[in-house]
Amino acid sequence: MIDVTQEYNKLQEKLKAGPLTAKDRNAIPQMEMPARDPKVRARQMDEVALGFSKEQAIIEANRCLQCAKPFCMEGCPVNINIPKFIAEVAKGEFKAAVDTIKETSLLPAICGRVCPQEKQCQGKCTVGKIWKSPEKAVSIGRLERFVADWERENGQVSMPVVAKATGKKVAVIGAGPAGLTVAADCARAGHAVTVFEAFHKAGGVMMYGIPEFRLPKKIVQDEIENLQKIGVKFETNFLVGRTNTLEQLLNEKGFDAAFVGTGAGLPKFLNIPGENLIGVFSANEYLTRANLMKGYDKEHAATPIYEAKHVVVCGAGNVAMDAARMAFRLGAETVDVVYRRTRNEMPARLEEIGHAEEEGVNFRFLENPVEVLGDETGHVCGVRCLRYELGEPDASGRRSPVPIPGSEHDVACDAMIVALGNGSNPLLVSTTPGLNADEKGHITVDEGQATSHAKVWAGGDIVLGAATVILAMGEGRKAAASINEYLAK
Ligand SMILES: Cc1cc2nc3c(=O)[nH]c(=O)nc-3n(C[C@H](O)[C@H](O)[C@H](O)COP(=O)(O)OP(=O)(O)OC[C@H]3O[C@@H](n4cnc5c(N)ncnc54)[C@H](O)[C@@H]3O)c2cc1C
Ligand code: SF4
Repeated sequence: MIDVTQEYNKLQEKLKAGPLTAKDRNAIPQMEMPARDPKVRARQMDEVALGFSKEQAIIEANRCLQCAKPFCMEGCPVNINIPKFIAEVAKGEFKAAVDTIKETSLLPAICGRVCPQEKQCQGKCTVGKIWKSPEKAVSIGRLERFVADWERENGQVSMPVVAKATGKKVAVIGAGPAGLTVAADCARAGHAVTVFEAFHKAGGVMMYGIPEFRLPKKIVQDEIENLQKIGVKFETNFLVGRTNTLEQLLNEKGFDAAFVGTGAGLPKFLNIPGENLIGVFSANEYLTRANLMKGYDKEHAATPIYEAKHVVVCGAGNVAMDAARMAFRLGAETVDVVYRRTRNEMPARLEEIGHAEEEGVNFRFLENPVEVLGDETGHVCGVRCLRYELGEPDASGRRSPVPIPGSEHDVACDAMIVALGNGSNPLLVSTTPGLNADEKGHITVDEGQATSHAKVWAGGDIVLGAATVILAMGEGRKAAASINEYLAK
């Protein structure tokens, strides 16, 4: 256990003596992120990771080598000036640091919590390479989270300057990170922006999918309030394609341009016998019931959650980890994650796998369901699985799972959650003439996110397929720039 006060004092003494050398920086121990006790947290919704203290942030920032060629920036989808913001943290200039991040990224408190940094900026960091371990890279994401929280908690959030009203109207369909980014950038340009959202709350997956214990909903709602303060209007419970079509918004309601950021909310299933038994959920439905309908707050939840003691989760990505960890918080006694490959091939973030394991999730590797078993009342009572071994690498480069004949065995459970990824909802494309999509249902766009429809732009998961918050934001940025240019003509 690192003595933070002692390390901080040691660092201050060194800094008094002059600038740190690379050797000094490499000798600074990496700071650990404090987290709640796994036994306690697995039964409550409070955020698991507690964030750096001011001293930890300054120590960690001094590990950065301020590389002449900062490879970390190459890994950042929105090109944040990482060495600059880290140098500001190192000097204790937290407001300057968060302002540097906000030059290119809209939601640092969110991205600092949920971005897959080990695959992006931290995956490229020189410090990780020196130590021959990506886990030893400078903790860029944790520093980003620290400065964004510091800004909010210290009442330092500054409102962006909004240009004079242009009289132009922009419709944003979907209030996820892509749509919110477009709303912010178009509102700043002086356009009147209305965001249409199918759910009763704005925020997209950040509200209904990613659980409270990873991303407190207050943070998302604060960002939405900030958008309202700069004039963005939100129409919730508004399903574009049903409540109004996109054409009606453009032709009858006077919108000059529209952005489609409807995400990838259509769950994929295994298509095996028994999948329609009572107690089988898509991860999307399970998490939406828990998060958005507050299923975990059993006394007050309007929609009751399905009570289950033994839960099987099928899948190995971040969504599967969220569903498995949520199951404990909703009262499960055992949670098994079934995955047909091994830990090495798991697509989930290492931190999420580690947290799930600490909380008691049991991983059943090299197994996959072939049938869901039901009792006489139509409720799920188990999952029949086959065992697998790894064969040759497939198109994804991962070793492909090969079933072992005759290895059927049953895993008892009273709920099963299918977390195999999501596809695109076809509603917008099917109700908007001239809006084209590819064979997977992803809306097709050019490099400025313009679609085949003259007044419509698109971005985020509806274009990329299920991706990440930062990529959705990045596409929103590009789309807004292109919409603003179009409206300026
Ligand atoms: C459980 C879960 C965990 C995840 N964890 C992470 C993570 O840790 N890190 C990470 O970077 N990414 C994570 N992701 C992925 C990430 O959340 C998405 O890539 C991102 O939210 C996509 O943003 P978006 O704006 O394109 O769409 P979304 O966030 O999906 O938002 C789309 C919004 O559009 C609304 N909508 C859809 N159709 C209509 C319509 N016709 N009319 C009006 N509104 C409509 C939806 O209700 C939704 O609110 C996770 C995803 C899930 C499901
Ligand atoms: S690559 Fe790592 S050490 Fe170099 S500037 Fe970026 S964060 Fe700092």
